[in-house]
Amino acid sequence: MAIARESAFDSARETVPRAALSAPRHDWTRAEIGALFALPFTELLFSASLVHRENFDPAEVQISTLLSIKTGGCPEDCAYCPQSVKYDTGVTAEKLMSLEAVLAEARAAKAAGAQRFCMGAAWRSPKERDLDSVCAMVEGVKALGLETCVTLGMLTGAQAQRLKTAGLDYYNHNLDTSPEYYGEIITTRTYQDRLDTLGAVRQAGIHVCCGGIVGMGEGLTDRIGMIATLASLPVHPESVPINMLVRVEGTPLAQEKALDSLDFVRTIAVARICMPASVVRLSAGREDMSEETQALCFLAGANSIFYGPKLLTTPNPERDRDMRLLDKLGMRPME
Ligand code: SF4
Repeated sequence: MAIARESAFDSARETVPRAALSAPRHDWTRAEIGALFALPFTELLFSASLVHRENFDPAEVQISTLLSIKTGGCPEDCAYCPQSVKYDTGVTAEKLMSLEAVLAEARAAKAAGAQRFCMGAAWRSPKERDLDSVCAMVEGVKALGLETCVTLGMLTGAQAQRLKTAGLDYYNHNLDTSPEYYGEIITTRTYQDRLDTLGAVRQAGIHVCCGGIVGMGEGLTDRIGMIATLASLPVHPESVPINMLVRVEGTPLAQEKALDSLDFVRTIAVARICMPASVVRLSAGREDMSEETQALCFLAGANSIFYGPKLLTTPNPERDRDMRLLDKLGMRPME
């Protein structure tokens, strides 16, 4: 998308201070978001950093741990995902973990400093019997004093209500990309299906964790479209994970060209400006990021990370490496 840098700069200069000093807006236009992306890099980071400081302590990082409670065998065809049955990625389908095994992992995560314990299951949507088991896990993890989050695929309103009753704090369901590019990535459910699940989760009073993935071959227009959709939800997601594609052998996106890390940082910065009060999570893809890129992401307003050696089925930096990085940067886990 060609945007004249001078006019983009003028318009963003108008936009950013307003965003920094006022309540979150839900009427971001694609032109405004495009203008932010087109800012000189240092201007964009400065503006995002300003917005970050207006809303959070910039030295604090929220720490979550993610556990795959049911791995592989998913009937959906998300082109980035090694857990889809459609692709030969070497991931074997497993059964739902037992309650005891999940609670043991949750205790270990808490001891290692996690504040939130996220549980992911590779389902199109949960069956009622499975939901009984997940509700017991939510209750058990909550009783340990951890915040709870699950990602189980599509939910009905009644299922969202059951999870809320069990004490669920967050539900993760990503939009992944723009409405226009979505069909290139997933064909087994629609963008509207995703929005409907997000609506059911919000209606049940559960916090929403929703973001997307960059580096899937999408253009700048799609990154703009994704952020515009997230930022125009009636309530911004409380948590916005921005993932860098992990190119897994066997998936259709395995050979995708690597995304320029500065484009990734720009996406974080624009998400921060457009959703000023949301926690922006530096999510998948950190394993391949330099310390410098991660530091730029924090400067751009990222203030959450997944902690632990694995993200569902893909590698994540070791805990010690993360703590050393936070130490080096003079940052600390959010209380
Ligand atoms: S991203 Fe989720 S829904 Fe899509 S294939 Fe993977 S496990 Fe299934």
